Amino acid sequence: MWRELAPIGRNAGSGGYRRYAWTAADADCREWFKAQALSRGLTYETDRNGNQWAWLGDPLAGDAVVTGSHLDSVPDGGAFDGPLGVVSSFAALDELRRRGVEFSRPLAISNFGDEEGARFGLACVGSRLAAGQLTVDKAHQLRDGDGISLPQAMEKAGYDPGTIGADPERLARIGAFVELHVEQGRALDLSGDAVGIASAIWPHGRWRYDFHGEANHAGTTRLVDRRDPMLTYAGTVLAARREAELAGAVATFGKISVEPNGVNAIPSLVRGWLDSRAADQATLDTVIAGIEQAAKERGERDGVDVRVTRESFTPVVEFEHALRDELAKILGKDGADVPVLGTGAGHDAGILSSSVPTAMLFVRNPTGVSHSPAETAGEDDCVAGVGALADVLEGLACR
Ligand SMILES: [Zn+2]
Repeated sequence: MWRELAPIGRNAGSGGYRRYAWTAADADCREWFKAQALSRGLTYETDRNGNQWAWLGDPLAGDAVVTGSHLDSVPDGGAFDGPLGVVSSFAALDELRRRGVEFSRPLAISNFGDEEGARFGLACVGSRLAAGQLTVDKAHQLRDGDGISLPQAMEKAGYDPGTIGADPERLARIGAFVELHVEQGRALDLSGDAVGIASAIWPHGRWRYDFHGEANHAGTTRLVDRRDPMLTYAGTVLAARREAELAGAVATFGKISVEPNGVNAIPSLVRGWLDSRAADQATLDTVIAGIEQAAKERGERDGVDVRVTRESFTPVVEFEHALRDELAKILGKDGADVPVLGTGAGHDAGILSSSVPTAMLFVRNPTGVSHSPAETAGEDDCVAGVGALADVLEGLACR
């Protein structure tokens, strides 16, 4: 499976993947998925939002156990983020057939469309639409960098955009959704485990900081006369690092704009965008409040006015405790202590958890690097992931 997927959408220059929604590379990934489904005698279908499904058993029977992930990528993404979950799903089914188990519930493997949001700027479009967390109106307004709308892109790829929208009947037929994913951090590497269970997706948000100072000549303005917003910005970046470190959270200023942006001008305005995430809401609130306070104190010293605007926020997603405990029981049956860990990254499983009992398995990523061509997972760990997923599916669907 990896051999067939490896060349699709791979950029020879960067070595990374550019599998954006509804492009030729995406179509090749979808063809691959369909071929995998049909070669195993599974019933193949796409849903009204273009997500792909491969069914063993009656799709309409209800209480289905579904596993899967996504095949699209970020710009110059790695090989594992997404595809590891889909490949492992098919491999786990093969393993269960080898074991000769009998299924008492329908089983499905899914590929959710446009998880990364690389083309239209919104992540998890396929699962968001299905779960009713993205309205049809909003979906119609999504445009890529060339001004092509989501419906236009879908149509060009041979899908009917007229059907998109919430799909409660389909989600109601799912009894459990389990997504296996490469870990996007080093928790498993540090604990020495190949596989872990997700506890929750951290709450996260984005805040825009506007630092208003006074533009002036970089050569003739005495230091004491300056109102330099770059200084306040720099102090705020350091404060963000300090607050995050103290709280065990993360905080990042990854984007900045400067006016007038001249090399010999003291800026009049610096805008910085803060992304911050923490294990729980209270911790995140503390970090955000600490950074804002530090920015305002520094601004007073510098004669700079600081304004903070929250641009987006996603609360914590707790995966269903009963299903999580069941996974821990299944994987811990031989006395193994399977680590349970939170993550700072979003997933389709997080979106679906509002409608369906949902769980996630993580496979060790020895460097923690993700969204990069350097993203990796060891072969033994991938095999361990398939074994764990097969055990979970057997435990859930073969009672
Ligand atoms: Zn992913």
